[in-house]
Amino acid sequence: MAVNIKRPNGTMDVVPGEAYKWHTVESVVRENAEQFGFREIRIPTFEETGLFVRSVGDTTDVVQKEMYTVSSTGDKTYTLRPEGTAGVIRATLENGILNEGLPQKVFYMLSCFRHEKAQKGRLREFHQFGCEMFGSPDPVADADVISLAHSVIDRLGLKNIVLNINSIGCPECRAKYRSALRAFFEPHRDELCETCRERLEKNPLRLLDCKSAEDQAIAKDAPLITEFLCEDCSVHFEGVKKYLGLMGIDYVVNPRIVRGLDYYTRTVFEFITSDIGSQAAVCAGGRYDNLVESLGGKPTPALGFGMGLERIILTMESQGLDFMEEKTCDLYLAPMGPAALDKAIELAAVMRSEGFFVEYDLVGRGLKAQMKYADKIGAKYVIVIGDSELETGNARLKNMATGEQIDIALDSTLCDRFSASYYETLLAADDELRGFVETLTGGGDTDK
Ligand code: ATP
Ligand code: MG
Repeated sequence: MAVNIKRPNGTMDVVPGEAYKWHTVESVVRENAEQFGFREIRIPTFEETGLFVRSVGDTTDVVQKEMYTVSSTGDKTYTLRPEGTAGVIRATLENGILNEGLPQKVFYMLSCFRHEKAQKGRLREFHQFGCEMFGSPDPVADADVISLAHSVIDRLGLKNIVLNINSIGCPECRAKYRSALRAFFEPHRDELCETCRERLEKNPLRLLDCKSAEDQAIAKDAPLITEFLCEDCSVHFEGVKKYLGLMGIDYVVNPRIVRGLDYYTRTVFEFITSDIGSQAAVCAGGRYDNLVESLGGKPTPALGFGMGLERIILTMESQGLDFMEEKTCDLYLAPMGPAALDKAIELAAVMRSEGFFVEYDLVGRGLKAQMKYADKIGAKYVIVIGDSELETGNARLKNMATGEQIDIALDSTLCDRFSASYYETLLAADDELRGFVETLTGGGDTDK
């Protein structure tokens, strides 16, 4: 019987020819996060369900509709993480990281699982780069976290991405705002979608987040949170704006951003692109000053963001941006016959241990087919090893780009000889690099 098993709806395969795109994003993320003083944290893929219910919030879409929950043999249920923050806080507390002095700054790259309607830029398994900063209530921390996301986006070369910021205040401001929203939406109750009628009771802020066009039209005239901020929250928000200004980061204040997760307080933000259709937020986050305490820690102000890596890559593709080049083979060894293969195996082992990318024939191809293969994989150099090469211990090193050939000994000097030729070729192809190397080695003009 033919097996016809396909990947689950809403998941993705990253085939080898595409992985370099991920490497590009991952390396920029890692480098930037470290430059900002964030250290990597890794956490389990699943956690006790209660962790997400408590932190993300039991009236949110994520908890109500999107979690992948499994029960185990005991009485516990576990859920595949729908986001990173809850697990990171759990791990931070469990490992006493907040006792090591504040602030603590961590980042992560991980997969998240949400049972959503799968579409472009909206998957059931997706990947986030996220960061969390613990221990600073100061608006400078908000600006610093936002500037990390900004810097990753900038370093990747992304354009047309608008930073939207808002403050949703503290629980006191929000209680007043909630009543005002209820009063506003109540007369429209019958026109609202079913989910929003429920939201009206349980969590009216969420009404502003509804994706239905009719509900959005009603929400257009709803009161804005900005009118309900208390003095402290207003001052805090002004601070965030001031520091973003100092950093030269452009933003728009968008009082309609309330975010889909319950734990936020004060600053919330989204980086939005218009280039990948309706799944437009490439990064979103905010402050959550009460969450650490509600998960059993000491009261600790904190904030963070999650950046959707699939959406970042989609945007880069749609903007035609460059990705890091895929590594290609430095040297292909083409043996003719079993004795030559033995030699190739030995040489490849030495070259690989010196850090070169080396391949040799694994399928017993003839010389012509091997040369074709070397060309196809983009090998920079080829050495053919036949009977006469074995006999003399010398071979020809062929530069595949220029056709140039030099004699090379098939012994312990091969590595050095190859390196010399290899770097010479790199320099020849790059005047700027040559100038730089000459300056370093004192061979060129220096203006001391
Ligand atoms: P959206 O409004 O698009 O549903 P969200 O508010 O649910 O996003 P967050 O929980 O804040 O998103 O997650 C942070 C980021 O993770 C989002 O800005 C987005 O880039 C990405 N993201 C969220 N859900 C998905 C998904 N299902 N598929 C791909 N990326 C996602
Ligand atoms: Mg969502």
